[in-house]
Amino acid sequence: MKRLIKIYLFALLPISIFVSCNTVPSAADNKKFKRPDKQINVILLIGDGMGLSQVSAVYYFGDKTPSFSRFSDISLINVSPIKLKITDSASGATAFACGEKTYNGAIGVDADTNEIQNIFEILSVQGYKTGIISTSSVTHATPACYYAHVSKRSMQYEIAEQIVDSDVDFFAGGGESWFRNRKDGRDLYPALIQNGFIMDQPLKSLTIIPEKKYGFLLAKKGMPTMLEDRGDFLSDYTKIALDYFTQSESSFFLMVEGSQIDWAGHDNNSEYLIEEMKDFNKTIDIALNYAEQEGNTLVIVTADHETGGFTLSTNDGDYGDIKPSFSTGGHSATLIPVFAFGNGAENFRGVYENTEIFHKILDVISN
Ligand code: MG
Ligand code: ZN
Repeated sequence: MKRLIKIYLFALLPISIFVSCNTVPSAADNKKFKRPDKQINVILLIGDGMGLSQVSAVYYFGDKTPSFSRFSDISLINVSPIKLKITDSASGATAFACGEKTYNGAIGVDADTNEIQNIFEILSVQGYKTGIISTSSVTHATPACYYAHVSKRSMQYEIAEQIVDSDVDFFAGGGESWFRNRKDGRDLYPALIQNGFIMDQPLKSLTIIPEKKYGFLLAKKGMPTMLEDRGDFLSDYTKIALDYFTQSESSFFLMVEGSQIDWAGHDNNSEYLIEEMKDFNKTIDIALNYAEQEGNTLVIVTADHETGGFTLSTNDGDYGDIKPSFSTGGHSATLIPVFAFGNGAENFRGVYENTEIFHKILDVISN
């Protein structure tokens, strides 16, 4: 139909108008016409250690309507690694970032420690900008799988070195100790700046230059806990990253991790856990608001595994009162919920393997 109209117009239009149609469109026109051709943006929010009871805790201990109620499509994933039943965050993150099951401790490598191409490496070739934000150090297992390939998650100095030449355009979190004042005396800041990064620019003076890359290392190791007054770090930097990507006018993939939901689970500390969940919930709202306002965006919220065998049991048999409790100081094998919203969300239904998150996201992008 479009083609027919075009031919019809060509036949009718006087030459002068035909010529003016061929002139360079204004910047405003460009923007308008670019939009529908743009590949979809992806915001993947990973609540490390977040099982269904952690999600449920926001409903009982949060202060307003939880962000989880805004999702249209919900599914479950099995997160077991190869050979074992219970995963750690490294093999869990490799499954999401690289689409392959591997051994616990692996960062972006397969069972034989061969490097596996990750989704940032795949999408940056297609013009995507990429970002990671975490409340742990940015060299911790979950964010590391988006830019590094090492055989053991403990190799954090090597992981930090690999971010320098990686496809990451924006990172924010802790982990300064692995970048400068290192054991080997090296300082990675000059190489990062050489590669186009603006490092640690204070938010007060932050003006976004779309051509630059941004790195924020705001703590020596992990970021402070919410109980220690971390404040709005996670939601604020998510907003800044989205602003940076929007100004860049490229499609983007942003991974945001609520890292310390896991740490609270290991500590069997429900007060810590609930505050980390409330913070993560607030950040999910930022992502959903962006997707609602801007369109062309897929938001996925899930977890690598559950931590603590957390449950919302009765307080001594009183059905009117909940006493959060834990059954382990480690991870558990429970299936993990996946929440999807926006473009392609309908692809995230059913019960499937954690590696499918990677494949489904790429399918949504290529369709
Ligand atoms: Mg993690
Ligand atoms: Zn853990």
